[in-house]
Amino acid sequence: MKYHSTNNLGHRVDLKEAILRSLPPDNGLYMPDVLPVLGEGFWGKWRGLSFQEIGFAVAEAFFGEDVAADDLRKIVDGTLEFDAPVVTLEPKDHILELFHGPTLAFKDFGARFMARLMAHLTKDEDRMLTVLVATSGDTGGAVASAFHNVPGTRVVILYPKGKVSGLQEKQLTALGGNITALEIEGSFDDCQALVKKAFLDRELSERMNLTSANSINLSRLVPQSFYYIHSARKIEAGVKPVFVIPSGNFGNLTAGLLARQLGLPVEKFVAATNRNDVVPRYLAKGQYEPLPSISTISNAMDVGAPSNFVRMTALFGNSWEQIKECISGVSFTDQETRDAIREVKAKFGYEIDPHGAVGWLAARKYREENPGSETITLETAHPAKFPDVMDAELGEGTVEVPERLAILADKKKVASLLPKDWETFRAWLGGNIS
Ligand SMILES: *Cc1c(COP(=O)(O)O)cnc(C)c1O
Repeated sequence: MKYHSTNNLGHRVDLKEAILRSLPPDNGLYMPDVLPVLGEGFWGKWRGLSFQEIGFAVAEAFFGEDVAADDLRKIVDGTLEFDAPVVTLEPKDHILELFHGPTLAFKDFGARFMARLMAHLTKDEDRMLTVLVATSGDTGGAVASAFHNVPGTRVVILYPKGKVSGLQEKQLTALGGNITALEIEGSFDDCQALVKKAFLDRELSERMNLTSANSINLSRLVPQSFYYIHSARKIEAGVKPVFVIPSGNFGNLTAGLLARQLGLPVEKFVAATNRNDVVPRYLAKGQYEPLPSISTISNAMDVGAPSNFVRMTALFGNSWEQIKECISGVSFTDQETRDAIREVKAKFGYEIDPHGAVGWLAARKYREENPGSETITLETAHPAKFPDVMDAELGEGTVEVPERLAILADKKKVASLLPKDWETFRAWLGGNIS
């Protein structure tokens, strides 16, 4: 399979380059030349398959020409070592729990697959691979965990000072070994801009053998489509699910679009955001106006210029009319989100995190406007990752903290503090990472 840039259909590369380079030199995003479709051989029996078998069929559709089946199966099985169960709050109101991985957020799926695929693609090389990643919360932890102790790799994580929760910060800063954390005096968008700039700096990028782990990397998106197909089976045959996705950079939603492209019947995707509502406004008005991000309690969605936007629109030939048919958008305030956390607990005894709560509100609104529709809301992180908000709404100690998170409290944070300017960052990389 060849991959092209969204900015230039003529710029075509192979799988290894698309994954390791991550970002085309023209600042577009890589897309497969052919969007795979799964045939009757799959859709005739998908309801009876295991999660791993679904994952393998999808991975093979994308990467089967370039990665041998046995290797691909190992990559998929290593990724899917935990389940993604669906919980039904009340009829037609389903929650897809994506937080059963090591760092308790959906990003474990993408990060684990990517780390394994990258290790496979570089297994015959002796140069060290440097993975550079900007995080607004959960990406850094998932990537750090996925690459920790992977031979031949090291990870540099940039995160905005004061804008990630205490435990999220520990997930990025306490591992040590081949993982280095940089605390940037700026916003997530500033961190993302530094990462983008590093890739576009040819000399630096070559010298450090840079690769990206952000959701701009195609190898993170494909595994995220596994659980759309897996979870859709919870719904009776003949009924098309509505997927509601709490969104920031729109990688998760784009993965849903890939699942639909593979042949999964979907009634609608709902893009649920906090007050960083660039995409809902685009869907309403047809104009894309990126803005500086605003801090909210669903901090992993505080993105003012979503990095997967061009990929999402490219899937519809950049037609706003077609996108609107498939995706609707809605945004909620922090106060509404807080009220939803309390309401979901009171009505269903279920503890939903601030990101999932934004999704749950969007799902309820959609069902009110479309009676009869069934929604599957993606619960993107475990509520215990956000103790400040959960304690304030439900009372201290209500949310039980899973063991793998609890042990972080005693670990030591190790990070270097840097201003957000490019020259300082570039010099730091040169001086500290060699
Ligand atoms: C990253 C993240 C999101 C946003 O996902 P995108 O793919 O960037 O849209 C939502 N919720 C949580 C908990 C996250 O970590």
